[in-house]
Amino acid sequence: MANEVFLAQHHSQTTAGGDTIFGKILKKEIPCNFIYEDDLCVAFDDINPQAPVHFLVIPRKYISQLSKAEDSDEALLGHLLLVARKIAQKRNLKNGFRIVINDGPIGAQSVYHLHVHVLSGRQMQWPPG
Ligand code: AMP
Repeated sequence: MANEVFLAQHHSQTTAGGDTIFGKILKKEIPCNFIYEDDLCVAFDDINPQAPVHFLVIPRKYISQLSKAEDSDEALLGHLLLVARKIAQKRNLKNGFRIVINDGPIGAQSVYHLHVHVLSGRQMQWPPG
């Protein structure tokens, strides 16, 4: 089993409940350079990039994972994607990018605060691992 998958499964059991590293970033308890922020979300570069461009867009509202989002989150979820698009345009990712949302242990989610990964700057492969 890949180490990152093991860690993801471990995290799903230990960080349930909302006190995640992203919550600490939002509360400014952990320093982080935001590349974008508005009333609903913030974006920052991933600390362990998997591509030359790898940033995360996260809602200020605590939602542990996509599968726990509610119908009333529809506009917020759309907003996250449009912000991802805007940052991609600003970074001149005109040859494309990949959006990833990991959900739960099977999806290898490690931080239980919903986040959209945006990856670019190299050719992506399919299927993903
Ligand atoms: P996931 O596996 O989908 O839950 O992704 C969590 C992501 O958060 C990983 O790509 C980590 O590298 C990233 N990450 C964890 N801590 C930080 C941090 N302090 N700043 C930026 N990215 C982080």
